[in-house]
Amino acid sequence: MNENENYPSLEQQAKNLAQFSWDLIKYVRENEGSPIAVNNEIYRERTAICKTCDKFDDLERRCMECGCYIPAKARIILDSCPLNKWKDVSGEWERMFSNLLKQLDSDDGNTES
Ligand code: SF4
Repeated sequence: MNENENYPSLEQQAKNLAQFSWDLIKYVRENEGSPIAVNNEIYRERTAICKTCDKFDDLERRCMECGCYIPAKARIILDSCPLNKWKDVSGEWERMFSNLLKQLDSDDGNTES
Protein backbone atom coordinates (compact mmCIF):
# COMPACT_ATOMS: atom_id res chain seq x y z
CA MET A 1 0.00 0.00 0.00
CA ASN A 2 1.34 3.42 -0.96
CA GLU A 3 1.64 6.06 1.68
CA ASN A 4 -0.19 9.26 0.83
CA GLU A 5 2.21 12.18 1.21
CA ASN A 6 -0.63 14.39 2.47
CA TYR A 7 -0.85 12.30 5.64
CA PRO A 8 1.57 11.55 8.47
CA SER A 9 3.68 8.43 7.90
CA LEU A 10 1.99 5.11 8.66
CA GLU A 11 4.41 4.73 11.57
CA GLN A 12 3.29 8.08 13.00
CA GLN A 13 -0.37 7.20 12.47
CA ALA A 14 0.20 3.91 14.30
CA LYS A 15 1.81 5.82 17.19
CA ASN A 16 -1.11 8.27 17.24
CA LEU A 17 -3.58 5.38 17.33
CA ALA A 18 -1.65 3.56 20.06
CA GLN A 19 -1.47 6.70 22.20
CA PHE A 20 -5.14 7.43 21.68
CA SER A 21 -6.12 3.82 22.46
CA TRP A 22 -4.09 3.92 25.66
CA ASP A 23 -5.67 7.24 26.70
CA LEU A 24 -9.14 5.86 25.95
CA ILE A 25 -8.53 2.70 28.01
CA LYS A 26 -7.29 4.81 30.93
CA TYR A 27 -10.27 7.13 30.65
CA VAL A 28 -12.79 4.24 30.61
CA ARG A 29 -11.06 2.62 33.61
CA GLU A 30 -10.97 5.85 35.59
CA ASN A 31 -14.48 7.01 34.64
CA GLU A 32 -16.52 3.85 34.77
CA GLY A 33 -20.05 4.49 33.59
CA SER A 34 -19.22 7.82 31.98
CA PRO A 35 -20.08 8.29 28.32
CA ILE A 36 -17.17 8.20 25.88
CA ALA A 37 -19.04 9.94 23.06
CA VAL A 38 -19.87 13.63 22.84
CA ASN A 39 -23.44 14.81 22.31
CA ASN A 40 -24.69 15.84 18.87
CA GLU A 41 -24.15 19.54 19.56
CA ILE A 42 -20.45 19.15 20.30
CA TYR A 43 -20.09 16.67 17.45
CA ARG A 44 -21.56 19.19 15.00
CA GLU A 45 -19.32 21.97 16.36
CA ARG A 46 -16.23 19.83 15.94
CA THR A 47 -17.04 18.61 12.44
CA ALA A 48 -17.99 22.14 11.34
CA ILE A 49 -14.53 23.33 12.41
CA CYS A 50 -12.88 20.46 10.56
CA LYS A 51 -14.82 21.17 7.39
CA THR A 52 -13.35 24.68 7.26
CA CYS A 53 -9.81 23.50 8.07
CA ASP A 54 -7.18 23.28 5.36
CA LYS A 55 -6.04 19.96 6.85
CA PHE A 56 -9.43 18.34 6.23
CA ASP A 57 -9.51 15.90 3.32
CA ASP A 58 -13.12 16.24 2.18
CA LEU A 59 -12.99 13.17 -0.05
CA GLU A 60 -11.60 10.80 2.58
CA ARG A 61 -13.18 12.68 5.51
CA ARG A 62 -9.83 12.44 7.28
CA CYS A 63 -7.49 14.84 8.99
CA MET A 64 -4.22 15.19 7.11
CA GLU A 65 -2.45 16.31 10.28
CA CYS A 66 -3.07 13.18 12.36
CA GLY A 67 -4.53 10.82 9.75
CA CYS A 68 -7.71 10.19 11.75
CA TYR A 69 -11.16 9.59 10.27
CA ILE A 70 -13.04 12.69 11.41
CA PRO A 71 -16.59 11.26 11.79
CA ALA A 72 -15.15 8.86 14.40
CA LYS A 73 -12.56 11.18 15.93
CA ALA A 74 -15.07 13.99 16.50
CA ARG A 75 -17.38 11.61 18.42
CA ILE A 76 -14.90 10.60 21.08
CA ILE A 77 -15.11 12.71 24.20
CA LEU A 78 -11.41 12.83 25.01
CA ASP A 79 -10.15 13.24 21.49
CA SER A 80 -8.80 16.60 20.39
CA CYS A 81 -7.59 18.44 17.32
CA PRO A 82 -3.81 18.10 16.84
CA LEU A 83 -3.74 21.83 15.97
CA ASN A 84 -5.83 22.73 19.01
CA LYS A 85 -8.79 23.96 16.95
CA TRP A 86 -11.13 21.92 19.15
CA LYS A 87 -10.47 20.27 22.48
CA ASP A 88 -11.00 17.23 24.62
CA VAL A 89 -14.22 17.89 26.53
CA SER A 90 -14.02 15.09 29.11
CA GLY A 91 -13.87 17.73 31.88
CA GLU A 92 -16.98 19.36 30.44
CA TRP A 93 -19.15 16.42 31.45
CA GLU A 94 -18.63 17.05 35.12
CA ARG A 95 -19.56 20.71 34.66
CA MET A 96 -22.62 19.80 32.56
CA PHE A 97 -23.69 17.17 35.09
CA SER A 98 -23.27 19.61 37.94
CA ASN A 99 -25.37 22.20 36.08
CA LEU A 100 -28.01 19.57 35.39
CA LEU A 101 -28.17 18.67 39.10
CA LYS A 102 -28.55 22.35 40.00
CA GLN A 103 -31.32 22.70 37.43
CA LEU A 104 -33.08 19.59 38.78
CA ASP A 105 -32.77 20.97 42.31
CA SER A 106 -34.40 24.22 41.25
CA ASP A 107 -37.17 22.32 39.40
CA ASP A 108 -37.63 19.88 42.30
CA GLY A 109 -41.12 20.97 43.27
CA ASN A 110 -42.35 20.78 39.68
CA THR A 111 -41.22 17.25 38.79
CA GLU A 112 -41.75 15.04 41.85
CA SER A 113 -45.12 13.44 42.51
S1 SF4 B 1 -8.80 17.66 13.60
FE1 SF4 B 1 -7.99 19.78 13.61
S2 SF4 B 1 -6.32 19.76 12.09
FE2 SF4 B 1 -7.58 17.96 11.73
S3 SF4 B 1 -9.07 18.57 10.15
FE3 SF4 B 1 -10.04 18.88 12.17
S4 SF4 B 1 -9.62 21.01 12.69
FE4 SF4 B 1 -8.18 20.43 11.06
